[in-house]
Amino acid sequence: MKTLLHISDLQKELRASLDGNKSIGFVPTMGAIHSGHISLIKRSKQENDITVCSIFVNPIQFNSEVDLTGYPRMIEQDSKALIREEVDFLFAPDVVEMYPPGEETQLDIDFGRLDKVMEGKHRPGHFKGVAIVVNKLFDIVKPSRAYFGSKDFQQLTIIQHMTESLKLPVEIVPCKTIRESDGLAMSSRNLKLTIGERQVASEIYGVLMFTKANADSIPVRKLQVIAQKRLAENRAFQVDYFEIVDKRTLLPINTWNEPEQIIACTAVNIGGIRLIDNMELFS
Ligand code: AMP
Repeated sequence: MKTLLHISDLQKELRASLDGNKSIGFVPTMGAIHSGHISLIKRSKQENDITVCSIFVNPIQFNSEVDLTGYPRMIEQDSKALIREEVDFLFAPDVVEMYPPGEETQLDIDFGRLDKVMEGKHRPGHFKGVAIVVNKLFDIVKPSRAYFGSKDFQQLTIIQHMTESLKLPVEIVPCKTIRESDGLAMSSRNLKLTIGERQVASEIYGVLMFTKANADSIPVRKLQVIAQKRLAENRAFQVDYFEIVDKRTLLPINTWNEPEQIIACTAVNIGGIRLIDNMELFS
């Protein structure tokens, strides 16, 4: 694996490797690599000639300085994990490389309600920051396919919308959520939980499973309220939202009429660590 810190170096390497029409698979991450990231990398390796992974903690998608400075950073350990997976190139730029002073960072896309609800409501500007960095990374790497986890379902929807709006020549490949043995969705943020917090965190999965088990038999709004209450019963949890929405619009639904489009999404703070998760209720 070659590690590149500069855009021009990565592009030189990619040009040199791209004889004929080789495909590039791209896995953008913020590091603290775990099995969720690795599943995306494995898929990219299967489907492409070359796999590029990026590690960049993108400051413009954070709403809180504390969250940004506290985000786990472990580039050496990450590098080893990526070498084991035989990633071809790791792109690990610093903030000045991605956002040179004086360079404009704007992206004019209307996401409608997609970036206003759920995470968008609790983290204003977050998805704009995500869209800007992913668009920039796509422009640098020029991947044939890019791999994103369904764990960040709203982010995946935003990126699909951006790719369609800008007619970007990249296939977005959604990948399933990888979970710990007790059901907690893997996340770099899990590292920040205390042992006690980690133990109760799997209740998020428990409530999603409860919701799935009761979908169709309890009216939507009533089930949403019950699930939210169940989460809130745990004294360690501060629940930002628990919503049952249409996968296409991310807006709350009122009936179980289109089961294949229904997903439950939630965000819970545990000891100041914000965890998100979701589950399709009829798959
Ligand atoms: P992050 O480093 O958290 O920005 O995540 C980088 C990519 O890995 C995103 O596409 C995430 O959706 C994906 N990802 C994170 N956690 C998981 C997981 N538990 N299962 C599958 N994909 C994940």
